[in-house]
Parts: sequence; C-alpha cells; structure tokens
Amino acid sequence: MSDTYNRFIEKVREIGQLEAIEQLLEWDQETNMPERGLAARAEHMALAARMKHERRTSPELGELLSALDGSADDPVVATNVRETRRVYERAVKVPGDLVAKIASVSSMARAEWVGARKASDFKRFAPYLKELLDLKRQLADAVGFAGERYDALLDEYEPGARTSDLAQVFAELREPLAAFIREISSAAHHPDEAIVHRSFPRAAQEAFARKLAAAIGFDFQAGRLDVSAHPFCTGIAPGDVRMTTRYHETHFNSAIFGVLHETGHGLYEQGLDEGQRYTPMGQAVSLGIHESQSLMWENIVGRSRAFWEYFYPECRATFSKALKGVSLDAWVGAINVVKPSMIRVEADEATYNLHIILRFELERALLDGNLAVNDVPEAWNAKMEELLGIRPAGDAEGCLQDIHWSLGIFGYFPTYALGKLYGAQFWEAARRDIPDVEDRFRCGDFRVLLDWLRGNIHRRGKRYRPDELVRAVTGEPLSIRPFMNYLHEKFAPIYGVAG
Ligand code: ZN
Repeated sequence: MSDTYNRFIEKVREIGQLEAIEQLLEWDQETNMPERGLAARAEHMALAARMKHERRTSPELGELLSALDGSADDPVVATNVRETRRVYERAVKVPGDLVAKIASVSSMARAEWVGARKASDFKRFAPYLKELLDLKRQLADAVGFAGERYDALLDEYEPGARTSDLAQVFAELREPLAAFIREISSAAHHPDEAIVHRSFPRAAQEAFARKLAAAIGFDFQAGRLDVSAHPFCTGIAPGDVRMTTRYHETHFNSAIFGVLHETGHGLYEQGLDEGQRYTPMGQAVSLGIHESQSLMWENIVGRSRAFWEYFYPECRATFSKALKGVSLDAWVGAINVVKPSMIRVEADEATYNLHIILRFELERALLDGNLAVNDVPEAWNAKMEELLGIRPAGDAEGCLQDIHWSLGIFGYFPTYALGKLYGAQFWEAARRDIPDVEDRFRCGDFRVLLDWLRGNIHRRGKRYRPDELVRAVTGEPLSIRPFMNYLHEKFAPIYGVAG
C-alpha cells in the first residue's frame, strides 16, 4: 500500500473512532447516565461533533483524496476513497453557521414538539416546522441535487437513492398494499390478539429474549443488552455492539420482538469486517439496508411458523400461566395480527409501509412548497383515511406522533420502507440459495441464514451502494413483488384468505 493511502486511512480511522466515541456517549446517556450529568454530557458531545467535522473537512484530507483519486484497482481501496470523498464533499459544501443554526433551532423545536404533542396542538409546533423546512431547503441547495431538493436530504441516509425512483416504487406499492389490508381486515377469521396481552413476568421475558438473541447468532461476548426508554442498537465496533429494549409485562411483543429487531441490527454490526473497522469497507451500507436486517430477524424469521415450531414448547413452558391451552396456531396468529392503527411505531409489518408512504408524500410536498405547513394536520388525516381507512382524533395521534421533524430530519422515513422491501427481496434470494432454510429453522439452525447474510451483505461493507447491493445479491433491481408475495404467503393461512 502506498504511503499516501496509509496516511489517508489513518485519517479515516480517526474520524471513525470519534464517531465510536460519540456513539458510546449516546449509549451511556440513554442507559446509565444520572440525570444531572446532562449538561456535562452535552459539552462532551459538542466537542466530539466539532472535532469530527474539522477532520471530515480538513484540507489535508482533501489533498489526500485528490492524490488518491482514480488510482485504485483494488476494490477495498477504491471503496474507502469513494465513500470518504462522498462524505467530504457533502461536508465541505455546507456552511458551518447553517449547521449550527439547524442544531440550535432543532433543539428548541424538539422541546416545543414535546409540549405540542402533549397538548395535541399542531399550531404550537408549526412555526418551528416552517423554520426547519426553510433551513433544510438551504441545506439541500448548498449540497446540490440532480433531480429535486428532497434528493439532497435522502442521500444522507440512503446514498444514491433518487426521490423519483422512490416515488415510483411507492406508487406501485400503494394500491396493492392497501387492497391487501382491506382484504385482511374483512376476513372471516381473526387471530386472538388478547393472548399477547396476558401476564408475562419481566425477568422471564428478559431471560427468554437473551436466549433467542443468542440462538440466532448474537455474540454476547461482543455485545450487550440493556434497558432504555427508546430501544436502539449501536455498533461501536464489531466486537462491541450495544442494544437496548424495554419490558411491558402485559405485552409480549414489545420486548421479545423488539430484541429480535435490534438483534438483526446487531448481527449486521457484529458481522462487519473487524480488520476494516472505522473505514467504509467495515461499515454498513445504508439505513435502509440496516433496516432490512432487523426486519429479516424480527418478522421474516422471528414471526414465522417455522421459528415457533422450534421455540414454542420452551416459550409455553417459560410462560406456562399465560399460554396454558394456547395452541401453536393460535400463538402464531396472535403475534401476527394485522390491523390499521394510528401510531407508526406500533404498526404491524403489513400496514407499516403505508405509514411511511404517507410521510414521504407529505415531506416531499412540504419541501417543494406544494403543501403549506398550516395544512399539515388536515393533509395527514385525509391521507390516513385514504390509505388505512382510519382518521386520527387529534394531532397527538396524527401529525405530531414522530420526533423526526422536530429534529430537522426529513428524508429519513423512506429508509424504513426500503428496509422492508430489501428484506423481503433478500429473503427470496436466500430461500433460492438455501431451499431447506425453513426446515433448518424448525431444528433450531439459524446459522445457515446468518452465514448467507454475512457473505452476501455484512462482509461487503460499503463496497456497493444500496441499489447495487440489491442487484448483486438478488440478481434484480429493487421490486415490490417479493414483499407482496411474502405478505400473501404468510398471512393467507393465518387469516384464511386466498394466497
Ligand atoms: Zn430498526
């Protein structure tokens, strides 16, 4: 390796290490930090953020990038240069005072959003949303975009994704998905949802959740599970992955499927190339691809009949009081209830993407100026009715439910929907490559799928962009077909409707 490349990688690793330090501070803040530590923690975080920004935009890094440009035949070198350049170019285009302004307005906006949501009064939040949208338009203009402004924001979370492509995919998905949900809702047979709301003692839930996470491959020597108000997973390094959950004694799904979800993220982080850590070749591709991994383990595997054929006897023995007399079929139905609901984070895997389509359409219209901020509540409610057949009673369960906009985060929501589509498409390819994969699950062998994911996705780091990775792994561009097929195949027997 050339001296130039070695110097370059040293700089890149330092930036990655600063990021890891930030993540560790954030994890600590959510899990362990005493209340009065907040002011000091904010100082630590601000310093780390400033140092990271200085390094990302340093003239020295710029010179090293120029010296290395186009020189690499080695795909590892080429990937590290290309991805570092992408972040560098974006960072140097954005004026420092715009970044600072967005940070300060969003910190006020977040506080106001909390109050507005409590009072279910969008009008209180509206002036902040107007200001944040204006700042994000300025940011998009500074970064530049090929198609429309939304591209510049989306690109931060899903590199290379185009708004027009997304709009096309969502337009294809919208009607078949809404029709599928109407069909499920009017089915004669509905599973008994009350089963999952019986009493599941917390200590037993935790032990069982840990057991499931380990069984599907999470290495507790290289990771932890703790408690936080909002569950998350953060990969400090492949050997140090922190995930969190929360426990509700009268809701089985919350912690158990929450842990399977975060374990999906955690397995990706643990599966990254340790030797490439802190460099793009040792990092996840995008938020959407990350979400495909959590969806895979939480829903496609964790809510499958095959999974519970193996785990249900133990589950029933563990929660013997709650599950007395509950058959495997009744159980699989109870954990797979599909029902239109107001709150995105509580939505099931079938209705979920309609919540995202709603947000995407509103965000895009807001950014373009085609929707006035004051009209958001009515636009939101009308779309809920159109897509899910229900209408929020107030702003709290409507347009004020998510924190994202108050943080100035626009263009993030689509990554959740992309994750679901990518996940189903990867699953279709995995089943093609491992025809007996579900029989393996029935015997408790999950390694076979994990190894497939490791080879096809985790170990490749950022070598491919998300759309290229989907093509490389599945042989096809992103499509809604695998997701719709998956839903039909899975829910037809549960609801007694035609597959
Ligand atoms: Zn997730």
